[in-house]
Amino acid sequence: MNYCMTRRAWLRNASMALAAIPASAITRPADAATNAAMRAQLAYQDGPKDSLRCSACLEFVPVKDEHARGGCKVIPGDDEISPDGWCTAWNTL
Ligand code: SF4
Repeated sequence: MNYCMTRRAWLRNASMALAAIPASAITRPADAATNAAMRAQLAYQDGPKDSLRCSACLEFVPVKDEHARGGCKVIPGDDEISPDGWCTAWNTL
């Protein structure tokens, strides 16, 4: 950091740097991951199938709450499972 930089100049540079960050980078955790191979194998979709959805599946692992994207016990390494999603492994037993 340039120690000669005024506070106003630093704030202006910081606000311009923030404006350059895509909104998706802010709303999505930096370490968010998907498991494309397992998603494809299980025909995962981001929307429900009829009334069946991940939030009602025993394999769903909520991260924050039931409305936020979370994990799935049968799709390891994926924390972007939609609570409104569905796949062929949907399970209530
Ligand atoms: Fe969703 Fe399928 Fe995981 Fe159940 S098994 S939470 S339906 S992705």
